[in-house]
Amino acid sequence: MSNKNALITGITGQDGAYLAKFLLNKGYKVYGVHARRSTDTLWRLRYLGIENSVNLISSDMTDSSSLIRCMNISEADEIYNLAAQSFVGSSWEQPILTANVTAIGVLNLLEAVRTTNSKARFYQASTSEMFGLIQQDKQSEKTPFYPRSPYGVAKLYGHWITVNYRESFGMHASSGILFNHESPLRGIEFVTRKVTDAVARIKTGKQEKLSLGNIDAKRDWGFAGDYVKAMWLMLQQDQADDYVIATGVTTTVREMCRIAFDYVGLSYEDYVVIDPKFYRPAEVDILLGDPTKAKNKMGWEPETSLEELIHMMVDADLQRVNRE
Ligand code: NDP
Ligand code: GDP
Repeated sequence: MSNKNALITGITGQDGAYLAKFLLNKGYKVYGVHARRSTDTLWRLRYLGIENSVNLISSDMTDSSSLIRCMNISEADEIYNLAAQSFVGSSWEQPILTANVTAIGVLNLLEAVRTTNSKARFYQASTSEMFGLIQQDKQSEKTPFYPRSPYGVAKLYGHWITVNYRESFGMHASSGILFNHESPLRGIEFVTRKVTDAVARIKTGKQEKLSLGNIDAKRDWGFAGDYVKAMWLMLQQDQADDYVIATGVTTTVREMCRIAFDYVGLSYEDYVVIDPKFYRPAEVDILLGDPTKAKNKMGWEPETSLEELIHMMVDADLQRVNRE
């Protein structure tokens, strides 16, 4: 069992909740950044049964003094920076907030770490959205970036400032370039969860249609529970580095819909309608990751297929809808 302390920003999000549980199981003392909101944001921690096992610190990525406070209170050996305005769609509506939280927030935290404990290990949640208009059929750590949204641009800053702090100050700072990963704890605005929630509602007679945008887009989808292990593995390596984390399989939104509807004995063609409202000003048509480096250097491999993942999400949404 570990006797280390970890600080997770974004602990109330999908990945933060899974990572907190993973680290608690390893014996870590887990601290998390809790941004003040008027509504309850602890439902994911409750869902995993760890709400009372983590130590929450009131803070915000845009308030650097509060991040220094987090470092002092937590005495963290490992810092996982998962906080972000993480929804691509909203990043056109709130581009400046996205830049302040998702780009400058990273710098605020890196500075807090550098000035309080520069020996602590740092993980940055980077994203396949940085590849955007893909420059290679299969994207690896060596593929040039071409972001297509204010979110992707902000994340690119977060990625490079992490690399820069590693190279400038010798910090153990790693950037995980994670492809899309989903779970029953995924935010409802993301397409997989939007679909599995709709499938549960349609199956139980609570919804009639499902409106979607570009269903020909392709994504490399994995399970969040598998991906948080990769974050931890990165911080256990002797040298900090950057890694692509993906499944190496890409699937259309259309096919993902088919899997979800099929699972409850329905045909997606009968329910899905296209609403241009959900088209994006600039689209990322296809993403396909090459996780070879993560496998060779850290022994990391995805363990959950897309079918298993979507079935797990439909099951969880059916349970939720039936409880309502
Ligand atoms: P979520 O959207 O589920 O979680 C985002 C978290 O960031 C929440 O805890 C949220 O808090 C917090 N947050 C937002 N703004 C602030 C702020 N100003 N100060 C402090 N905290 C804030 O994201 P995921 O868990 O899905 O993703 C985790 C990270 O990984 C994100 O950085 C995301 O961009 C990145 N990523 C995710 C991928 C995915 O497929 N899931 C793929 C690649 C990268 P609150 O609950 O209070 O809103
Ligand atoms: P992203 O890869 O981070 O943007 O994850 P999303 O789950 O938000 O979107 C994945 C893909 O699904 C994108 O190409 C979207 O354009 C496409 N998509 C199609 N319809 C929808 C929809 O109704 N909502 C969302 N969020 N995405 C949609």
